[in-house]
Amino acid sequence: MSELNILTSQETKGAVFGLISQMNHEVVVYCYDKETGLKAIIAVHNTLLGPALGGLRMWAYKNEADALEDVLRLSRGMTYKAAISGLDLGGGKAVIIGDSKKDKSPALFRKFGQYVNYLAGKYITAEDVGTSTEDMANIAKETRFVTGLPQDMGGSGDPSPVTAYGVFMGLKASAKHVWGSDDLHSKKVLVQGVGHVGRNLVSYLSKEGAVVSISDINQQTLKQVSEEFNISVVSPEKVFDAEVDIYAPCALGAILNNDTIPRLRCSIVSGAANNQLADEVIHGQMLLERGIVYAPDFLINAGGLINVYSELKKFDRATALKHTEKIYDQTLNILKKASVEKITSHQAAMMLAEQRLEAAARH
Ligand code: NAD
Repeated sequence: MSELNILTSQETKGAVFGLISQMNHEVVVYCYDKETGLKAIIAVHNTLLGPALGGLRMWAYKNEADALEDVLRLSRGMTYKAAISGLDLGGGKAVIIGDSKKDKSPALFRKFGQYVNYLAGKYITAEDVGTSTEDMANIAKETRFVTGLPQDMGGSGDPSPVTAYGVFMGLKASAKHVWGSDDLHSKKVLVQGVGHVGRNLVSYLSKEGAVVSISDINQQTLKQVSEEFNISVVSPEKVFDAEVDIYAPCALGAILNNDTIPRLRCSIVSGAANNQLADEVIHGQMLLERGIVYAPDFLINAGGLINVYSELKKFDRATALKHTEKIYDQTLNILKKASVEKITSHQAAMMLAEQRLEAAARH
């Protein structure tokens, strides 16, 4: 077994590793194994509320510094996502440096599983960009601290339908906040990105009688979804200028920025994409000033996390969906707090998450 390198915030030095103490991470582990070619970093940001559960991303980072920055930022985000969603979980994340199309092997994931096991439950892994339920099954050969297993192994399988349900809840709560009713019948909703989550969201919206339009850069996906639901298509360049009631970003991060916000012609932004605000402060404020209600992404896309959380007990989808429904009330609380206190919805959500973390620190 390779050596375990644990970098604690007290020990770190230098510009890159300074990030660890800046963001107050508890433990960061660098994993290297010559035989399998594994290069990975596990970051545990905060375990005040419980073990740090977060996905394992496999990505061809340019260098280790980029991978470290990404895992530190993502793991911190998980702390707030779990806190705002009322889950007894901390924030963690892991990255494997490599091309998920070329560099995967069962041995690589088994080795990663050994590193997860070293942490004795402080970090629990799950699927993310570039990893699959099959990879989780290989990790499970070495550790029990893994979720997102295939359904035939008692796991929760693909989290996207539950994520989409949570986004749908957030979208309905935003409608209630703006129009006094959460009935989406005949409301115009534009879904940008109809992949795993977006397609499921389109299904919920269509059943509700919303007038849905979609956009995607993948022509095959676009054709499939528009034919299946008999809905219109908006070209990617026209998404931000489209006159709709609700814009649901379900593709990329950082799409709410200096260029796009002035163009928006909608009342609500509410979608699944992670890190939608290019700058949390500046672009949250720009949306507020334009009178556009923004449902915080890290709250309304938490269904996937809720899904794997329920796997820690005995997985059952009905329980996961029931918990995900709470996103509705929490979105309403946050939007109300933001409008009463004249702050952005992102700030309001962060404040509530911080309050929960502070209360846990006191006990
Ligand atoms: P996905 O890769 O299955 O789908 C993304 C879709 O967006 C693809 O069809 C892609 O072609 C399209 N796309 C990419 N660039 C685009 C552009 N410029 N314009 C229009 N479409 C574009 O991903 P997913 O699992 O559906 O996740 C969507 C978003 O939700 C991501 O930001 C992801 O991080 C976030 N998210 C997903 C989950 C989950 O459970 N899958 C959970 C939380 C957050």
